[in-house]
Amino acid sequence: MTLTALIVLVVLLALALVVVARTLRERNRRLRQVEGSVIALARSWSEDGSSRGRICAAVQQASRAEFALLAEPNRRGDALVITATADATALGGTELPMDGERSLAAKAFLSGAPIDVADPGEVPDESVGLMTDHRAKSLHLRPVFREERIVGVLCLGWRERRVALESGDYDLVAVLGDEVARAIERDAHVSLLARQARTDELTALPNRRAWNEAVTTEMARAQRTGQLLCVALLDLDHFKAFNDTHGHPAGDAHLRRTAALWRRELRAIDVLARYGGEEFGVLLPNTDLVKAQEVIDRVRGATPAGETASAGVVAYDMRESKDSLLARADAALYRAKHAGRATTIPA
Ligand code: GH3
Ligand code: MG
Ligand code: MG
Repeated sequence: MTLTALIVLVVLLALALVVVARTLRERNRRLRQVEGSVIALARSWSEDGSSRGRICAAVQQASRAEFALLAEPNRRGDALVITATADATALGGTELPMDGERSLAAKAFLSGAPIDVADPGEVPDESVGLMTDHRAKSLHLRPVFREERIVGVLCLGWRERRVALESGDYDLVAVLGDEVARAIERDAHVSLLARQARTDELTALPNRRAWNEAVTTEMARAQRTGQLLCVALLDLDHFKAFNDTHGHPAGDAHLRRTAALWRRELRAIDVLARYGGEEFGVLLPNTDLVKAQEVIDRVRGATPAGETASAGVVAYDMRESKDSLLARADAALYRAKHAGRATTIPA
């Protein structure tokens, strides 16, 4: 080997080493980025399903995609719904047919296999629409598994034409795909806990905590809109005697039935809550005191098993505190009890 050839070989070798080192550095940097995203996600939790959005953003960043979105089956299982996007595109809520012939996301969901598309001309209509909307030239669709079950499809799109994901990207997206499944599960747990924390177990009505929140919310709405708001407190009459006569389990059943029947007498925008043992609160937005008394009389009239209830009802004066509003309603209820029960006293 001549000296020149040796020098050329050494130079080439050095160049190759530089390239490898740079690639490894870049790979390392992106792995650290992904690790950071995964740790941040594992620490975070949300009631509103926003872990999904954050994981999409992490996937988009790690894979340098133009867009990243998550599609999940609807309740009926007859469509995929876009439940999260990395960049808050207007696609959230978009439905894709659960039909592998018409939607690539559905194809990946139904087959359980990842799909790479390099040529928009080859894919079904709906998916082409999705890509051209985002100026993406290639797509990667990855089913998301949770314990052997497919729970969604992660859809990534790139502006440049790619035949398939590079192997490094493939690993990153696979790792993040598992994180997506965990984020879905975490969101579900958190929203279940949040729902339970605001729901009365016996009657399934909003509980005291939810009642207090609702009173605050409706007072603010009344002030904002200038619409009247009435508040009523209801209490079952002689309920201790009912328990003594029929037993506590029958008392529970009576409370449950009462809650269901009272709820039917109200509009969807009205709030009926169980804020205490046999004590209930009603919020009537956009209702004047005369009408509110009529509604509450009707609600009381729906009490089952020949039992009765007493009520106090007041109109929010738009200035007083929540405590004052509720104290006035409570005082009216007290007067109803003293007036002989089975009546509504307005104040
Ligand atoms: P009043 O007409 O003055 O309201 O008389 P009352 O007997 O309804 O009122 P009191 O406050 O003396 O008793 C309330 C009763 O409600 C006593 C309690 O055992 C019963 N109660 C409270 N919560 C529950 C519950 O979850 N289940 C059952 N079965 N009873 C309950
Ligand atoms: Mg009571
Ligand atoms: Mg009572």
